[in-house]
Amino acid sequence: MTTSHDILRIRPDDYDPDDMPVERARAFILDRLKPIDRTERLPILQALDRVLAADVTSPMNVPGHDNSAMDGYALRHADLAAGGATTLEVIGTAFAGKPYAGRLGPGQCLRIMTGAPIPAGADCVVMQENVLAQDGRATIGPGHRSGQNIRRAGEDLAQGGIALAAGRLLRPADLGLLASLGIGQVDVCRRLRVAIFSTGDELVPVGQTLGDGQIHDSNRYSLHGLLARLGCEVVDLGLVRDDPATLEAALREAAAGADAVITSGGVSVGEADFTREVMARLGTVLFWKIAMKPGRPLAYGEIGSAQFFGLPGNPVSVMVTFYQFVRDALLRMQGRAPEPLPTFAVRCTAPLKKAPGRTEFQRGMLRLEGDEWVVAPTGEQGSGILSSMSRANCFIVLEQARGRVEAGETVRVQPFEGLV
Ligand code: AMP
Ligand code: MG
Repeated sequence: MTTSHDILRIRPDDYDPDDMPVERARAFILDRLKPIDRTERLPILQALDRVLAADVTSPMNVPGHDNSAMDGYALRHADLAAGGATTLEVIGTAFAGKPYAGRLGPGQCLRIMTGAPIPAGADCVVMQENVLAQDGRATIGPGHRSGQNIRRAGEDLAQGGIALAAGRLLRPADLGLLASLGIGQVDVCRRLRVAIFSTGDELVPVGQTLGDGQIHDSNRYSLHGLLARLGCEVVDLGLVRDDPATLEAALREAAAGADAVITSGGVSVGEADFTREVMARLGTVLFWKIAMKPGRPLAYGEIGSAQFFGLPGNPVSVMVTFYQFVRDALLRMQGRAPEPLPTFAVRCTAPLKKAPGRTEFQRGMLRLEGDEWVVAPTGEQGSGILSSMSRANCFIVLEQARGRVEAGETVRVQPFEGLV
């Protein structure tokens, strides 16, 4: 029972030992989700950043034949004297795309270009810099190995093997790899349709003048960016007032045509009751207090066949909960296996305020100092300070049990950007 004494006691912060650990919430969501099963066939040039729906089996060996890794001379290794120089007769030239038709006999060699098929009889390529060529003859010193400078047929991709596995996000190298197999079209998972809206009576869309106490809706714009990066189709339902009937209508409309619905605001203490009441009529929902900062309250559930993520209203909390929960969920629904995001340990150049009991995702600036990567916080870490996300290039992930960090201690960082 809460007594007036409890209420009046000042608590150092909003730590609650019953809050759910980040890992548990993440595992719960992933356990429940299955990939959507609709696919489409696309030309490979349109398949970048899409998720492969089925394994691609290699219809051929790549390379298709043994070929030279160097410009040089193809020869029979057994012809080379072990202790001194050997002179061989040059009987012709093999070019990439223009193989030499004949066979090498004893004492013969062939001028060969990079990528040209190795002629019958040859088992060694000596690079041209190590050959003295004169008057149709080539003189070669000792010390060469049988098989050197030869790329073997199938060493890149073997015929019948899985070249690319289902669930893979197609990256630039994969487009090239598919082309190398002569594959011009692939089956990919359909893009996820994600409906979004913002809730809050104080919100005003961009382009309208702010009245007293009003603020511009920024969450929908951050969410657009996040969803675009994940390759989702966004259905934007705009702003929804804090009114049960309006909220219910918006959630119904959102869920009808979407694989997932993401809202922001209206799930904090007090407001949650209101969303809870509406959700009880529409589907199922769990309200979670997660042991994390920022982004503690989160609603997760289902409306019809759509997954529902009710994110907190604060702009930084929206982004952090998206990265830490929604991202994985959407990857899973797209058919991808969400591997953990890479983090690495670096020295933190400034002290960080942190209380044990919850995972914190502070915003950091990672930079190269000499030849060492170091990180510093972006400054004020309030969950309403979106400029901290904008200035940051990484999260500083502080583990649940960890307390205050002193300058010079090692922390884990999770960079925002990878290779394009
Ligand atoms: P709530 O979770 O609805 O209580 O909102 C928490 C804080 O986030 C409040 O200060 C809201 O004004 C702010 N907020 C909620 N939604 C948005 C939004 N779409 N854009 C910017 N700030 C918002
Ligand atoms: Mg609100």
